[in-house]
Amino acid sequence: MIRKTVDYVVVGSGPGGATLVRELARAGKQVLLLERGRDWRGHPLYATYPGALLYADRYALLFSREGLNIVRPLMLGGATGMYCGCAAMPLPFWKQKHGIDLDAHARATYDELKIAPLPAHLRGEASTRIAHAGAELGMDWQAQDKFMQPALAKSFDCSATCMLGCRCGAKWNAAQYVDAAVVDGCELWTRARVDRVDIVQNRATGVSGHIGNKPFEITANTVILAAGGIGTTHILQASGLDAAGQGMAMDTTAMVYGVAPTKGIGADPPMTWSYADDDLGVLYSTLIDPWLMYPLIMATKGPTYPLSWRNWGRTYGIMIKLKDDISGSIDKSGISKGLTTRDRARLSSAEQIARDILQRAGCDPTSFLTTPLRGTHPSATVRISEMVTTDLETSVADLYVCDASVFPEALARPTVITIIALAKRLALHLTTATTKPEDLRRLRELVG
Ligand SMILES: Cc1cc2nc3c(=O)[nH]c(=O)nc-3n(C[C@H](O)[C@H](O)[C@H](O)COP(=O)(O)OP(=O)(O)OC[C@H]3O[C@@H](n4cnc5c(N)ncnc54)[C@H](O)[C@@H]3O)c2cc1C
Repeated sequence: MIRKTVDYVVVGSGPGGATLVRELARAGKQVLLLERGRDWRGHPLYATYPGALLYADRYALLFSREGLNIVRPLMLGGATGMYCGCAAMPLPFWKQKHGIDLDAHARATYDELKIAPLPAHLRGEASTRIAHAGAELGMDWQAQDKFMQPALAKSFDCSATCMLGCRCGAKWNAAQYVDAAVVDGCELWTRARVDRVDIVQNRATGVSGHIGNKPFEITANTVILAAGGIGTTHILQASGLDAAGQGMAMDTTAMVYGVAPTKGIGADPPMTWSYADDDLGVLYSTLIDPWLMYPLIMATKGPTYPLSWRNWGRTYGIMIKLKDDISGSIDKSGISKGLTTRDRARLSSAEQIARDILQRAGCDPTSFLTTPLRGTHPSATVRISEMVTTDLETSVADLYVCDASVFPEALARPTVITIIALAKRLALHLTTATTKPEDLRRLRELVG
């Protein structure tokens, strides 16, 4: 048994956990970060096809009971190890509905990481053609803000394979915030999987878990779970907080493809252009699955679909990201998440719009097909105002949640800036001890 006592223990190193440990370590706090995955950066398989299968949960074959393929990277940096590097400011509902002002933290992150659209010549010819076609149909397509600084790359080498991991060094990864925290004294344990929070008289006293076969027990004054929408739910449920994971959001995604007479978008960086239709609750963006992933994903649709792989080099793609209803559940036996009737109707409208754009961009309408559904934003499993206060504290004293779990609803937007801003806000709260007892009292009354 490994035993240790610290002030703060943080579980999970995605954008939530990584930002929090950086801020706490900077403020001189004693912090231990526990991450179940390993640091793949620098490994020969990092950013390769086999690598991506190895660091995704169940070799990327995690499915909900309804057949939704959930891509869940388990590695230092969390899902930013495989994300598309898109950024978006927090939506107005945070302030309007919940009184949570994230804008200053988000803007500071934009400035620090030099977040901006890629220069026009790097947005990809085919992707730009799709965006122009959408604009011709009256839609407000915009160059997408990116966590990418081409100037940092020895040679900017970005294509659909960017989603396997960044090879050229232009794309920011939350693991970089962990590096900074370690320099400031944060202790990092990788391959350390937390099983539960230890709770005594409704107060968190630490966490227990294991590294390989070796169990550990950490005693801490404050416990912060940042293990992602699914990981945090599992830990809370194992700790007796059964309301976690009753309903979730996923920003459920489908891609609509069409074959063009010219070069496709596979060589373009992912998601260089986007259009948000907030009336329909959909984000559209330019995207195609990486070359070798394409047939694997199509095989889950049906035996004949992988045949369309031969056209990959001439394929245009539009990603549809749906602001899905809170639905489904997570429990010990697995995940239930499908689409509600309302989701289905909106997805169908969005598919038609994507086809219209692709046709306008020159694609052959007889080639159109839609991929099976995918989930890359597991979130809203431990929702603000239901299970955590606006200061992200649970009904158990000294136990906080700081990741996409706390979203009150789906974003249908890139999530990472919002999560970073939430973590900066929580770090400020923890380090300045501005507790709101009335907020906590109200929640405790609510959950009995
Ligand atoms: C392919 C893909 C593309 C995406 N593209 C974008 C994009 O362009 N822009 C954007 O904003 N968002 C994007 N996202 C979504 C975004 O990356 C996630 O929403 C975000 O990383 C979630 O952050 P998080 O802190 O909640 O958790 P995560 O990033 O999921 O991190 C959780 C961490 O906790 C660890 N963990 C889990 N359980 C345990 C445990 N029991 N013990 C210890 N550690 C544990 C995991 O290994 C993981 O490292 C994308 C996601 C994917 C999969």
